[in-house]
Amino acid sequence: MKNKVLVTGGAGYIGSHVVRQLGEMNYDVVVYDNCSTGSPTSVLHGELIIGDLADTEHLYQVFAKHQFSAVLHFAASLSVPESVARPLDYYANNTRNTLNLLRCCSVMNVNQIIFSSTAAVYGEVGENPVTESTLTSPINPYGRSKLMSEWLIQDYAAASSLRYVILRYFNVAGAEPGGRLGQISLNATHLIAAACNAALKRKSAMQIYGTDFPTPDGTGIRDYIHVEDLATAHLDALRYLEENGESQILNCGYGQGYSVRQVIERVKAISGVDFPVIETDRRPGDPACVTACADKISKVLGWLPLYNDLDKIVHTSLAWEMSRVCSLSLGLTSNALSPSCSLAPGISAAITGQPKRLYSSHIPDYWNVATFHELYPFIYLGLLDKLQSVRSKIFKD
Ligand code: UDP
Repeated sequence: MKNKVLVTGGAGYIGSHVVRQLGEMNYDVVVYDNCSTGSPTSVLHGELIIGDLADTEHLYQVFAKHQFSAVLHFAASLSVPESVARPLDYYANNTRNTLNLLRCCSVMNVNQIIFSSTAAVYGEVGENPVTESTLTSPINPYGRSKLMSEWLIQDYAAASSLRYVILRYFNVAGAEPGGRLGQISLNATHLIAAACNAALKRKSAMQIYGTDFPTPDGTGIRDYIHVEDLATAHLDALRYLEENGESQILNCGYGQGYSVRQVIERVKAISGVDFPVIETDRRPGDPACVTACADKISKVLGWLPLYNDLDKIVHTSLAWEMSRVCSLSLGLTSNALSPSCSLAPGISAAITGQPKRLYSSHIPDYWNVATFHELYPFIYLGLLDKLQSVRSKIFKD
């Protein structure tokens, strides 16, 4: 067994992918998560301690019980509109709780930290791609709460033996190809989730926020990175710190931008569903174009992305959302979308295993031509008799 590490927020979307990869690399993992947005069933490896970073007494107890060599800090609130409405909650949960964590690290002599930051620290960028030395000028409380956390880490590191890797995520999307992990928040408003939900008829239409941006097709351009590659960047960062690498701030993106129209076109093509799209006004605070310069992370960490392909991101997102639609339609809670329930991986395998079969036809037809392989999850759970009602629930217009 390798070193013991603490993962705050390890039950959440990105944290759970990292925990799984840490498990595969034989790390001893302790997850500390209040499960407000994450799920215990997403923790596929290690020990889960349900706790809040605001509860410093509990946090100290956890540090005292375990000898951590490093901390990976994911736990945070991450919705921009929510941060505008409830800024104090964001400064408390993101900034103050990072301070609590650093105090524990200081007292307990933990001197390696990997921190989840965001491209939102840059704000409105004049030039693309964005490098790590581009001026940080966040335009919402979420970005500011993260930038303040970066400053806490940097200032404390300057006065101590702490070494850090701050990873600034661009637009994270996709799901574990095995179908066990993905974005579990039902209210995800991100573009790829919204398009997948429109393709799966969970919503009647989707909206394009703004068609008058100064971009080739008038819609916003972003750098979408697959969650598996982002997780690998954390493993690389951990190895780097273990090998005594010095502190770094690194962008996490592919350096390749796609417009909203391009993303929607790929979701339509891959799902085979031509869902309605409504063009509407810009969303407040949305920049026209943000893409990463990813040279530094490759150079410093030797990071080698494997999913640098919009179609792979869309495929895994669609499979994940499809499995959720099926599970929820069966009356299972989102927590049932777990490795302990074979439904999600079963459906995901059925989908990714026969993409042509599913995606080239209109989705309701899929159910008419289902084979044993495709029906496996239902058979496994003894739910074949419910298939008819699932079908009518999922595909009612
Ligand atoms: N977007 C859109 N429709 C949606 C969701 C997002 O047109 O339903 C656009 C949004 O305006 C931005 C891009 O898609 O230009 C990416 O937005 P997302 O919310 O996924 O990530 P953000 O870059 O805001 O963090």
